[in-house]
Amino acid sequence: MINAENIHKRFGAVEVLKGVSLQISKGEVIAVIGPSGSGKSTFLRCLNHLETIDSGRIEIEGAVLASTDANGHCHYAPDAEVRQICRKMGMVFQHFNLFPHLTVLQNIIEAPITVKGMKREEIIPVAEELLRKVGLFPKRDSYPARLSGGQKQRVAIARALAMEPDIMLFDEPTSALDPELTGEVLRAMRQLADEHMTMLVVTHEMGFAREVAGKVLFMDHGEIIEARPAAELFANPEHPRTRAFLDNML
Ligand code: ATP
Ligand code: MG
Repeated sequence: MINAENIHKRFGAVEVLKGVSLQISKGEVIAVIGPSGSGKSTFLRCLNHLETIDSGRIEIEGAVLASTDANGHCHYAPDAEVRQICRKMGMVFQHFNLFPHLTVLQNIIEAPITVKGMKREEIIPVAEELLRKVGLFPKRDSYPARLSGGQKQRVAIARALAMEPDIMLFDEPTSALDPELTGEVLRAMRQLADEHMTMLVVTHEMGFAREVAGKVLFMDHGEIIEARPAAELFANPEHPRTRAFLDNML
């Protein structure tokens, strides 16, 4: 579903991604862990073109988003194609970014109508079903300001799903939440994983990573230090830096 090879990215003098590669197959759940500033968010943002890469190659479901030629020049697909490719990925951020002036339901149907050209009567039942799924149907007509952080984040998940993505990217979806609210969001994500959604999840929730992810990537200083089945990585981290990080977390 995603094939990223040797991604390099710098911000000014700082090389934030130093040749990161990742393959994610259909239905796979991969967790990305690592210290603050290691490049996790930047990597996710490069995959769905919220940032451009300096070099490397990104393929999404067989379509080439970006590639680098023999002279080291990176080329992106034409804009229309880029938009089409990126539409296959839904993203949920740490801060929910809901539209404050729209109700829960309006937040969910906005993009399907404006981006995909769906009809209101077509998308509303879909949106309502998604709201039921994340347990928020009763909040259908509420404004985001009236919701808890956990509820907002579940709306953000429903909103991303309304675009019918093939892949979901999550960037620390629970780290802005009070601890008592993380469970409801993790449950919604776990349910999605049980339904075989392909998911790439940056998270500090080691329990979630261990139980839900098939594979875990440990990132540090812009590199993937270790990429192994979750159970193995947690039970027996190979790299001293992974070990040190996990000792600190647990
Ligand atoms: P955290 O766990 O704190 O979210 P992270 O692993 O997601 O960290 P990134 O946000 O990807 O890390 O940041 C990696 C590095 O890139 C950091 O040093 C950060 O300061 C830098 N960086 C990120 N975005 C930008 C930007 N737009 N301009 C300049 N530097 C940036
Ligand atoms: Mg981050």
